[in-house]
Amino acid sequence: MVDEKAIEDVAVKLLKLAVTELPQDLKEALQRAYREEESEAGKTQLKAILDNMELAEKTRTPMCQDTGVIIFYVKAGAQVENLDKIEDALRKATKRATEEVPLRPNAINPFTQKNSGDNTGRFFPFINWEITSGDSLELTVLPKGGGSENVCALGMLRPGEGVKGLKRFVVDTVVKAGAKPCPPNILGVAVGGGADIAMKLAKKALLKPLGQPNPDPELAKLERELYEAANMTGIGPMGLGGRFTVLDVKVAYAHRHPASYPVAVAVQCWAARRASARINSDGKVEYLSHKVV
Ligand code: SF4
Repeated sequence: MVDEKAIEDVAVKLLKLAVTELPQDLKEALQRAYREEESEAGKTQLKAILDNMELAEKTRTPMCQDTGVIIFYVKAGAQVENLDKIEDALRKATKRATEEVPLRPNAINPFTQKNSGDNTGRFFPFINWEITSGDSLELTVLPKGGGSENVCALGMLRPGEGVKGLKRFVVDTVVKAGAKPCPPNILGVAVGGGADIAMKLAKKALLKPLGQPNPDPELAKLERELYEAANMTGIGPMGLGGRFTVLDVKVAYAHRHPASYPVAVAVQCWAARRASARINSDGKVEYLSHKVV
């Protein structure tokens, strides 16, 4: 049986890991960008990012003052008991992490402008659910910063525009965003479904590990083309010019309505924080994104 308190404890740990230490694939992508960046200003920015990343990990303090909107992805085995207790455990974990890590209180009522002060509120944290087979519970947290969120874009293209239109829309989004999302960025690009489905898939694509091309060769080719096109903009690290505007592009899709061609671009900043763990039915916890000793 997966105990409610254990879920809360793991979620607090995941929040702390996510905001203080980037997963290995991210670290490697940023180090590679630093090695290969040709612009002096871009290299200086990447060096500052790497130093900041190391300091955050060493001191276990957040790598950015904006610790984001807290989004959880829950894969719950159908045989997990107390499924109805998970949401409460994640809310408690969010409140605790806000104090203990600490996280910046970012949950504001859009009508009263009142900050709840503990990162909880209506649909906050936001929880994405997936029911799987088995009896284990997989938790992933994605704290999503506001600067990169503000430049996410949805285009309801005409079906005739097709993949060419998709490419144009993605590059336009990158150009319009400029320095705002703290590049180098990661782009989650999704096509199809509907307006909401495309954006959900695009954001979920940000969880895919960097440096692993799409298993579908056609989509892997599209990811590569979008990566090269985005980097040809020359926006560069923190918008100061250079080769690395994006670190990676992840493409996802759903089948679409004949009359619609929705394209969503979820933009993630260099502080691409995420952390995952699996809680097995015997209570054993495996951390999937970070080495935990
Ligand atoms: S966009 Fe990312 S790195 Fe920039 S301020 Fe926001 S959370 Fe921090």
